[in-house]
Amino acid sequence: MVEDLKGKIRVFCRIRPLSKSELARRSQCIVHFPDEYTVIIKSSRGAKEFQFDQVFNCSTSQEEIFRDTNRLIQSAVDGYNVCIFAYGQTGSGKTFTMIGEKEQANPGIIPKAFKRIFQIIDENQTKFTFKVLAYMLELYNDQLLDLFINRCEGSTTKLEIRKDKKGFVYIHGAEIKEVTNAEMLCALFEQGCKNRHTAATKMNTESSRSHLIVGVTIKSTNLTNGTVTYGKLSMVDLAGSERASKTGAEDEQLKEANSVNKSLSSLGDVISALSAEQSFIPYRNNKLTLLMQDSLGGNSKTLMFVNISPADCNAEESISSLVYASRVKLITNNAQKNSESKEIARLKQVSRAFGNLAAYHMESVGASSTLLVSQEEKESFP
Ligand code: ADP
Ligand code: MG
Repeated sequence: MVEDLKGKIRVFCRIRPLSKSELARRSQCIVHFPDEYTVIIKSSRGAKEFQFDQVFNCSTSQEEIFRDTNRLIQSAVDGYNVCIFAYGQTGSGKTFTMIGEKEQANPGIIPKAFKRIFQIIDENQTKFTFKVLAYMLELYNDQLLDLFINRCEGSTTKLEIRKDKKGFVYIHGAEIKEVTNAEMLCALFEQGCKNRHTAATKMNTESSRSHLIVGVTIKSTNLTNGTVTYGKLSMVDLAGSERASKTGAEDEQLKEANSVNKSLSSLGDVISALSAEQSFIPYRNNKLTLLMQDSLGGNSKTLMFVNISPADCNAEESISSLVYASRVKLITNNAQKNSESKEIARLKQVSRAFGNLAAYHMESVGASSTLLVSQEEKESFP
């Protein structure tokens, strides 16, 4: 209940331990945590203090992180649109937080969320029936790619970002897989990760210069009263936020870095416009902001992780990430459950079979016109 009342985007800050290379360079830890909501960073320009919904220090385990994220997975199964994303410079711990280490050691939020979805489903098998669908995308050099399709095999389908009548973002042309258990979803995800672009930069030998977007939609039907709810869980591992000059990238890598910078600065513009409550929000400036438009300022429960390094050599990037994240904290979303009565759900099914005829019938039984099934809705929840 309390969770439902919170309209603000929540922001969690996570500081990773000093890395081997930072220790080898004799880097100093300049980050302090006076309490679980505050982070202080001391740089040559003085001390700066930031406050977030939660601050996780370098010894926080993946389990503890998930304990605080868990409730959002329940919300997605309950019929809410939920988005969890990680922001920060390359090497700050975004992928560690979202995915975990290689070979599923120390799993992060995404694999844990997959397990949790099916745990909740198992616990509610007697009261509901469920249908779970997943898609997995990469935004690389301003191009949207389907990670459920092996690039070597080629794909001719053009992916388009669209919005349905309820404001849900969905991807026209994306491969959508129905999944029936967590193992199946994890296996699909691992296969998808192998289809990603990666390039080595000075910042991180295995850094990804692309954004990763994983979407899981959950349709549940209440067996007692027939009410149908649709939830969507989007999990996004953003590419690194550092400026191109610092990474030592050249040619192709410079192009990648510029595209990443452009998308993250568009995201910054959207965040600024939303936090200043402007009437025009520039979602259309970039594919990343189009993709995230139902998560930022939309009908969504959104959680942002801002990941930072504790080292003095990264002070500037860490401060800029914390300033960015502080603005996100000001945004208010309007999260609403996506549900419809048994009669409307039944008529939608009929409508799928008979097209306009059933839509006409829905009107005649007094269904709200916004609930008339559209082509777009059919595609987002096949
Ligand atoms: P990013 O995705 O932001 O570029 P990574 O998640 O790849 O960064 O993290 C960089 C390195 O730091 C990896 O080797 C990762 O295992 C390690 N790391 C990140 N966060 C933590 C953490 N909280 N505890 C231990 N190691 C971490
Ligand atoms: Mg990464």
